[in-house]
Amino acid sequence: MISKCFPWHEAVFRRLTARAETLPHALLVHGRAGIGKTVFARTLAAWLLCEGERSAEAACGKCQACGWFELGNHPDYRQVEPEFLNAQSETEEGAERSKEPSRQIKIEQVRELQGFLAVGTHRGGRRIAVLRPAEAMNTATANALLKSLEEPPPNTLFILVSSQPARLLPTIRSRCQAVVLPAPAPEQAAQWLAAQGLEAAQTMLAHSGYAPLAAIEAAEQREARDRLLALLVRGEADPLVLADACANAEPAQVIDWLQKWAYDLGAVQLTGEPRYHPQARAALEQIGRRLALRRVLAYQRELARDRAVAQHPLNPRLFLESLFMRYRALKG
Ligand SMILES: [Zn+2]
Repeated sequence: MISKCFPWHEAVFRRLTARAETLPHALLVHGRAGIGKTVFARTLAAWLLCEGERSAEAACGKCQACGWFELGNHPDYRQVEPEFLNAQSETEEGAERSKEPSRQIKIEQVRELQGFLAVGTHRGGRRIAVLRPAEAMNTATANALLKSLEEPPPNTLFILVSSQPARLLPTIRSRCQAVVLPAPAPEQAAQWLAAQGLEAAQTMLAHSGYAPLAAIEAAEQREARDRLLALLVRGEADPLVLADACANAEPAQVIDWLQKWAYDLGAVQLTGEPRYHPQARAALEQIGRRLALRRVLAYQRELARDRAVAQHPLNPRLFLESLFMRYRALKG
């Protein structure tokens, strides 16, 4: 089913779809991080490509075009984003594995997009390219895109998504019509979060600067941390079980949690006082007693090294498993 945009963006969505026939060739969708801009851009693209009975807020979700869109293979749609945002889906390509996925939109990606724009549309309607986040383009890449924005191919809509539009080239900005997406009112966001089953929605929202998607992510991270810690306290050391517990967490976060745990495993031996997990003192002492201090210290150093490469590893799952395999090996 094609999703709708978030309720706090519906008014803007309806304004755009009401004048679908006269949309300019480039939109710059901007607003704060974590409020659902990409969902908005994709929902708009799906709506414009839909060939069935659309409502004012959503594509039909039933026609062939909607089917393709959802499977990610609509022939007239392209989503251009830095590799790291979809690194997980590309891990099967073993050859590239050793390379750090790029955090920038590369000039080759824009050239590829231009190749796609050079041929006619497949369905006789519009062609749509979503670029996100637009500020991930360096100057050379932005200039390459600028050529297409200046001489747009027919029936083409570019949707640039950005939470930092000030970082875009002024020439890019001036070629796009700005679509400002509002952040939800705190009560609306809290209500929505509660409806998603988020506990302590109000608090989580405040902690995330009132960005509901960021709040959801923070809640997921917190749950993962709690799951992991509960297992560690129980003395669990099976790498697969531990990796499962934090499968959805950011690897850099997991390292942070493990670093604190490893720190305390050393601290109970050195000073008798855990620093980060005072409530788990008994467990730390019991586990720590069975480990050689020098191994714990070496593991701490390894974790610090891992942390440097933990920003978006190509295969987060393998990365986590290797962290926990070395944790289990502490027992020697
Ligand atoms: Zn449809």
